[in-house]
Amino acid sequence: MIRPICKDPFLLSQKAKEMTEEDRELIRDLKDTLQFHSAHCLGMAANMIGVPKALIAFREGPLIKAILNGEILEKKGPYPAMEGCLSVSGSHSVTRYREIRVRYQDEGFSEHVQTFQGLTAQILQHELDHCKGVLV
Ligand SMILES: [Zn+2]
Repeated sequence: MIRPICKDPFLLSQKAKEMTEEDRELIRDLKDTLQFHSAHCLGMAANMIGVPKALIAFREGPLIKAILNGEILEKKGPYPAMEGCLSVSGSHSVTRYREIRVRYQDEGFSEHVQTFQGLTAQILQHELDHCKGVLV
């Protein structure tokens, strides 16, 4: 189900709670909402649809993937980036890292540790910030 985008700074600044098996429907909703906005949005965090749970969805080529309870373990290669966000107006300068190591659960709640680079790494850093209540 496509849900409306939350722009409330109070809700967006709350730290996300752990995703559990009971939150499965939220995965579908977040992916549907990202798909709907995919012309101008590469990733989305659950609090952007008003639910403060540690869930993000992101585009990787033609696919939309979800990461649950993601945590950045390591980051390398800082660089300055300009980013926009559907929940925040304008573009904002931030420091991102070219390579990150992330511990997360997939949609079946299996645990992974994976290295991401380049654009995918940047999207994940932006969305995982959302989960901590941090906006660009
Ligand atoms: Zn954002």
